[in-house]
Amino acid sequence: MQHLVHVNNNDSDKNTKELKEKVQEETIQKLHHKSEEERANAMANKYHLPYVDLSLIPIDPEMVSIVPKETAQNASLAVIYKVGKKLKIAVKDPENYETNKVLEKLKQEDKMNYTLVVVSSDSLRKAWLTYDLSTVTKRFEDQGVSLKKEDLTEFEKGIHNIIDLKKRISEINTTEIFNIIMAGAIKTKSSDVHIEPNLDYIRLRYRVDGVLQDIVNLPIKVSRTITSRVKMLSKMKLNVTDIPQDGHFSIDLENKSINIRASILPSTYGESIVLRILSEDATGLKLDELGFNQFYMEKVEEQLLKPTGMLLVTGPTGSGKTTTLYSFIRRVNQPNIKIITLENPVEYRLEGISQTEIHADTGLTFAQGLKAVVRQDPDVIMVGEVRDSETAEISIQAALTGHSVFSTLHTNNAAGAIPRLLHLKVNPTLISPSINAIIAQRLVRTLCEHCKEEYTPAQETIDKIKEILSKIPRNNSMEIPRDVKTIFRSCGCSKCNFIGYKGRIGIYEMFILTQNIEKIILHNTSASEVMEKAREDGMITIQEDGILKAIEGITSLEEIRRVTGEIFSNKF
Ligand SMILES: [Zn+2]
Repeated sequence: MQHLVHVNNNDSDKNTKELKEKVQEETIQKLHHKSEEERANAMANKYHLPYVDLSLIPIDPEMVSIVPKETAQNASLAVIYKVGKKLKIAVKDPENYETNKVLEKLKQEDKMNYTLVVVSSDSLRKAWLTYDLSTVTKRFEDQGVSLKKEDLTEFEKGIHNIIDLKKRISEINTTEIFNIIMAGAIKTKSSDVHIEPNLDYIRLRYRVDGVLQDIVNLPIKVSRTITSRVKMLSKMKLNVTDIPQDGHFSIDLENKSINIRASILPSTYGESIVLRILSEDATGLKLDELGFNQFYMEKVEEQLLKPTGMLLVTGPTGSGKTTTLYSFIRRVNQPNIKIITLENPVEYRLEGISQTEIHADTGLTFAQGLKAVVRQDPDVIMVGEVRDSETAEISIQAALTGHSVFSTLHTNNAAGAIPRLLHLKVNPTLISPSINAIIAQRLVRTLCEHCKEEYTPAQETIDKIKEILSKIPRNNSMEIPRDVKTIFRSCGCSKCNFIGYKGRIGIYEMFILTQNIEKIILHNTSASEVMEKAREDGMITIQEDGILKAIEGITSLEEIRRVTGEIFSNKF
């Protein structure tokens, strides 16, 4: 992978130099590791043995201890796995004299069978580290560890990125492991932790910026430790393993408390765990940090000034609708304005705003909650989701009677909101008077500023981009480029955990219920009819907005394709 350093012209030469040196150093380290591993791989090929990178798999201190530390170091080997009398041994060179002496002894004197894998010196050094850990981990096993603030902070300090985390996790295999898993998730700003048991290992994955990343495979025997820890913390039934359970707990860090929602589901090989980390960070976004382009930003600002009417945000689950609504609320929040929210569930506390949680099972539905809320004389109401006719009807009535209503609908695009409302039996003549604007959105990952790479795509791709650009309406305040020469792609560096992306931004489409659109709304109006009119009013589609952001280097074409579906028939 090639690294390009992007520096603002304003930056001092010193900064530029430091940055360059840092990138160089990182590149050298990576190349060193790569060449070490390549050598090991070539060695493995020579002897027709499997090659293994131990930085990616956990090593059990008990296994390593089968051969004493000094002997193992002398013979350039490490025992990495043991079942009964069968060993799996990592060696640097299968023909090495010292190595063979030890192997011979294991076979003749200890009556062990073994298979070999070839590893690099780096891998061996890592394996030998576990000798020193085995005594430490024993101590932890005896005492048991609770999820304490000090532990987490301590672990967080040692973990700078996913690579560090993989190392830490594979070095330790006891009760400590849960703390490291959580510390790692918080450190990497993951939104979810997935712990999935398989036949002989546990798969640990984090969701980072909306995409699941494999972290490490854990030995199956830590499964019970982790499951009991989660159950204890979230007050679930310890002895129940055959039904789904959920609960929550919080982790206190130095200056903040993080809420975790835990869910356990029985699966073929044990209980599957998903931990949702309810980070306050995402909901703290300001309106201008959401990623609205200039044209939409002006429209949104204009709509938020209106004292009545409804603003609808649409998109699938996980497209960032709630974050957008929260930022709307934060924008209109003033001491003289009463804001009430109805949510399912309330995940984040907004200061100075009364938030009500919907409990459909105990009878408090959105519709019933909404009826009660309207009687509280609010100025602004946020309704988590309009999903049934009754909620749709009351929301529309509230919007028509002097309230500002923010809500979401589950449709793929903005135009689809109209047929969806009609489907929910909303009177077509009420739609335009009550609804001010409809927004649809998705979230795309933003390219890591430290390693993104500018490149010239294939002529075919350029032509396609130009074709798309030529179809974007020009009757809006956007400056649409007519040509494009280069775009950016993801690379990966230590700053982005070698993912190539860091953070997310919204891509949007939005239209105002103008007279142009109003006149076509009848009982059976289709999304494509609405779309046509919205385009006449200058609407830029989600995909077009995404492509404009890719041209700017905010994200990549691959990312737009991942989120919005196929753009081009050919690979670019
Ligand atoms: Zn990066």
